[in-house]
Amino acid sequence: MESIQSSLKKWMRENKNFKGHFIKIKQQLMASPEVAALKKQHPSLDDEAIERQLMKIYEYHSQSKRCEKCPSLSECINVLPGHVPHINVEGSHVHIAYDKCPRKLREDQQRKQQSLVKSLYMPKEILEASLDRVDLEEEKRSEAIERMVAYLENIKDELPAKGLYFHGPFGVGKTYFLGAVANRLSEKNIASMIIYMPEFVREMKSSIKDDSLNSKIEAFKSVPVLMLDDIGAESQSAWFRDEVLGSILQYRMMERLPVFFTSNYSLKELQEVFTTSTRGDVELVKASRIIERVRQVSEVVPLYGKNRRH
Ligand code: ADP
Ligand code: MG
Repeated sequence: MESIQSSLKKWMRENKNFKGHFIKIKQQLMASPEVAALKKQHPSLDDEAIERQLMKIYEYHSQSKRCEKCPSLSECINVLPGHVPHINVEGSHVHIAYDKCPRKLREDQQRKQQSLVKSLYMPKEILEASLDRVDLEEEKRSEAIERMVAYLENIKDELPAKGLYFHGPFGVGKTYFLGAVANRLSEKNIASMIIYMPEFVREMKSSIKDDSLNSKIEAFKSVPVLMLDDIGAESQSAWFRDEVLGSILQYRMMERLPVFFTSNYSLKELQEVFTTSTRGDVELVKASRIIERVRQVSEVVPLYGKNRRH
């Protein structure tokens, strides 16, 4: 790489005994099995050509290519961590290129997948949730688990247009399920966004001040999978219900984009929660419109079981 070449040049400039070192390096290189193999493989690479390109060959020689012996990416000894040199010979010309090592490739892939799950105000344990760790034996949750697995298996070129609406008592693992689905989706390279509803309302209210409201609403509209955690637990406001939630759900319904929910409420109960005031019929109509949207973008799955909070 450039950095090695230039540091080598610098070293040569500064080093008074350069010639001695040069000869020593050359001798070492010429005697190394690696260079011998290279010469054998490329007969066009004679001693003169090697001498002319000694720095490149030295660079190649000095870098580790034995990734299988490497304990971890952070302990990579190469100048460009996570990269392995390989040498190409064209006629008598030597080229060195660097490729990502297997560990680096794996890490990049993992990082990419993690970045596919966007979350706001979600605890770490939920973001680390995995379907593999879901207790499959527990009978009461089996329907919910089956529905989750069926959803994930139904993903073909397109996502199923309806997500799932998990409702049930506190602590049975509803939110955990969202995290598990989000992580499984990311393995399939599908981006999702999870948000905790009480914070969602606060976030949106504070976005009015800094003009970021519309761009945030756009993000919630367009993300491939949206997950709203604990709907009904937010402080109620007709503005949030109609202008924010209503508009996001309306858009997603038309575009056939799925939404997942968790709630302590059934849809019938949620409708009551959304009837924010006693202004009579108008409120009732607006609340039932929201419930209708929820129904259009998700399928209801009750979830029971023991309280897992300790
Ligand atoms: P809910 O959203 O239904 O109130 P949570 O999803 O927050 O419940 O789960 C309650 C607690 O139990 C959390 O600490 C969560 O991490 C844990 N939990 C839930 N389901 C599982 C699971 N299948 N495996 C391990 N921990 C779980
Ligand atoms: Mg929860």
